Amino acid sequence: MSSRDIHVVVVGCSAGGLGLAKTVAALAKQGFPNLRVTIVDRNAFTYYMIGAPLGIVNPQFGSRLFFRLDSLLAQFEANPAKPKHQFIQAALLNVNLDKTLDLSNGQTLSFDYLVLATGATNSFPANISAPTIQDARAQLSQVYKNIKQADSVLVIGGGAVGVEIAGEVADAFPGKQVTLVHSGSRLLPPNFKEGLSNGAVAKLQKLGVDVVLNERMEIPDGLAFDCSLRTLSLTGKSGKTYTSDVQFLAIGPKVHTEYMQDLEAQLGTALREKNGTIKIKPTLQVDCDALPTVFAVGDVNSLPSGAKYYVKAAEQSQLAAANIVAMIKAGYEQGTSAGLNMQRWDGSVMNMIAVPIGRSLGVLQAGGIAFGKSCMGDILVRNAKSKDYFISKIESGFPSGANQ
Ligand SMILES: Cc1cc2nc3c(=O)[nH]c(=O)nc-3n(C[C@H](O)[C@H](O)[C@H](O)COP(=O)(O)OP(=O)(O)OC[C@H]3O[C@@H](n4cnc5c(N)ncnc54)[C@H](O)[C@@H]3O)c2cc1C
Repeated sequence: MSSRDIHVVVVGCSAGGLGLAKTVAALAKQGFPNLRVTIVDRNAFTYYMIGAPLGIVNPQFGSRLFFRLDSLLAQFEANPAKPKHQFIQAALLNVNLDKTLDLSNGQTLSFDYLVLATGATNSFPANISAPTIQDARAQLSQVYKNIKQADSVLVIGGGAVGVEIAGEVADAFPGKQVTLVHSGSRLLPPNFKEGLSNGAVAKLQKLGVDVVLNERMEIPDGLAFDCSLRTLSLTGKSGKTYTSDVQFLAIGPKVHTEYMQDLEAQLGTALREKNGTIKIKPTLQVDCDALPTVFAVGDVNSLPSGAKYYVKAAEQSQLAAANIVAMIKAGYEQGTSAGLNMQRWDGSVMNMIAVPIGRSLGVLQAGGIAFGKSCMGDILVRNAKSKDYFISKIESGFPSGANQ
């Protein structure tokens, strides 16, 4: 039993932050009663965006994608009568050298250990920011209403997200004109086999989607993509004009880590790559010897694109949690580190992908074998992912009532 006061702050509560926060908070009941974990997120809820392609055509399913964060850590209190773990709804504005954080609600928070898991921001509805869980649900179900009223839908970007959105919309609304425009010569991430792309093109066309490859859309500066109902004409580099009533932008996320700027200035060193991702050591500690108790996990860190997956963020979450637990047990934040043995990220990238194309079709690659045009891909994806985009598994990780 240790009576040390230890404060662990986890910023960003999705694939990277959630599992870690729970694992570390559990220490409070395992001999560290004065350990407290604070989770911080700009939203009052976490959004399981993987289910967004189905959520926009099935509002009932869409309402299951949001989970309140306020009660997440209650089960890990050493003394439930005197709760120590907490949730703060605020955006992180600054990380300071004196081990404090400035938050958007005006609060300054000090920490012993800090985990940055703020991910990367996609366009709506792959990303949703809202003051309450009810507002977030309303935003998603409005997309459904807009698609329902539209004659035509345009999806820009043919990665997995764009392919899934186009497939679900075309399947749910067979009468609508759905166009998927992609700048590359093949769909889906380039590290997967060409047969996967060929299968995706064929199956989208089977659902009536007009798939346009090698076409880069010219997007006016400042044009918002909020899936509102508006008739809009956009021009591709080919000179062709695409007119649609609802538009989805699925060209990949942007990383926002401006909260590291002041710290970089104070340390006189770049802590981030040019694209904003945070540089890390194999232990997932930020790559700076002056910040040994600061970690970055998930899409926010500088691991390669093959690691930018929910599955990989969750694996990093557990690795960083194991390292923080080891440091706490060794008394690291008090200056002792005898016997400290840190785990290292193995550099693995995602070698499996399952992409639903509507309710019954899909393509899948696993173990180097691609199931593109074959019906085996449909069967495998239906069994693995299409049914509920894994939401039941995610639901089981939250206390009951978290999605009310
Ligand atoms: C539509 C879609 C489908 C996908 N499908 C799959 C799939 O099938 N399989 C798979 O493995 N991966 C999939 N991915 C990728 C996967 O979702 C991401 O890799 C994963 O969510 C990354 O997790 P993360 O915790 O690093 O970041 P995120 O999930 O982006 O979460 C970041 C969290 O930080 C919060 N935040 C951000 N900035 C701040 C701030 N300044 N202050 C406070 N809080 C902040 C956000 O509100 C959010 O809760 C998909 C992605 C999308 C968009």
